[in-house]
Amino acid sequence: MVEESQGAPFDPTEHPHRRWNPLTRSFVLCSPHRTKRPWQGAQETPSKERLPAYDEKCYLCPGNARAGGQLKNEDYESTFAFENDFAALRPDKVQDIAEGQDGNAHPLLRSFPARGRCYVLCFHPSHNLTIAQLTTAPYTAKEHILPIIQAWTRLYQSIPADNPFVRYVQIFENKGSAMGCSNPHPHGQIWSLDYIPEEPQKELESMKAYANDELNMGCAKDDRGRPSLLLTYAQLELSLADRPRVFEVNDDFVAVVPYWAVWPFEVLVLPHKRQIASLAEMSQEEKLSLAEMLGAVACRLDNIFECSFPYSMGIHQRPVATSQGGQDELGDYAQFHIHYYPPLLRSATVRKFLVGFEMMGEPQRDLTAEQAAARIRSCPTTHYLAVESS
Ligand SMILES: [Zn+2]
Ligand SMILES: [Zn+2]
Repeated sequence: MVEESQGAPFDPTEHPHRRWNPLTRSFVLCSPHRTKRPWQGAQETPSKERLPAYDEKCYLCPGNARAGGQLKNEDYESTFAFENDFAALRPDKVQDIAEGQDGNAHPLLRSFPARGRCYVLCFHPSHNLTIAQLTTAPYTAKEHILPIIQAWTRLYQSIPADNPFVRYVQIFENKGSAMGCSNPHPHGQIWSLDYIPEEPQKELESMKAYANDELNMGCAKDDRGRPSLLLTYAQLELSLADRPRVFEVNDDFVAVVPYWAVWPFEVLVLPHKRQIASLAEMSQEEKLSLAEMLGAVACRLDNIFECSFPYSMGIHQRPVATSQGGQDELGDYAQFHIHYYPPLLRSATVRKFLVGFEMMGEPQRDLTAEQAAARIRSCPTTHYLAVESS
């Protein structure tokens, strides 16, 4: 029987607690006392393999045959985009599904047509150069990462222009086999859809609610004078003594392990000067700042365990404005930001799984966001492979 007394004073480094995620309006359970327990779980073997600059079997290397076998890649020298040969969505229009038409004549069994197109963007012709390595000499963010951001911007604008049904463009990168990425050649994906998917939809609704809540009038404002959830959060993190969750900041962007992080080394990259709804509204200077930030974040992550750090990274930004549909005004509340969800926990081989209580109850973490940020901050900004080879 646990004695019910007044209780000890709360210590966030010792006592279990729940943290609130205002973006997705969800909780994460934090168990900081558990970081002291010994690890007896699975160890995955780290990949010590050094990849070649060109792999004749890679379907993303310049000039090579693609996965489908019929098409060939261009002999590209910077970035290269093409439509995914095995896309999850198709662009053809399908009529709305009438009740019972799919054989399920019950309101509990509902489905909706989904339309879209999927693209692949190769970041670089070299098979073995990830974003993490592209800020360490002889590479520079300006020459080697900025083109990726420019390609994302072009696709963010051209896909909806060519496909008027598109409502949302989801840019993301799956890096490493731990995240289910089947090809090590540095590349990302761009899925375009005729609807706003659940994650950005939830976040946009939170941003809208925040902007319209009179209690937030003292907060950082967007260009229309409305309170901005993520601009307020970015400036708050920068204003705190010792900046416990910040590990990288430049003229326009800040990288933090968010207060409500679920993944051990989860990262959120945010603009800290102004509301920037999308890549299309970013100045050249801001794009260069972003390029430097992406390189710095990925490099530090690689340096934590001196491995090619796996993650899923994705951009959330303004949905595409269309003349159809009723959710377009949500886009007016959008603040551009980037999430990194990396699975590694305490070494290159020990990963976190969202299982058990996390599937049945809510997400849980041991390492606190502050401990994770301190660990990332302590990592050098020169890539470990460049140090090894020099
Ligand atoms: Zn390749
Ligand atoms: Zn988001």
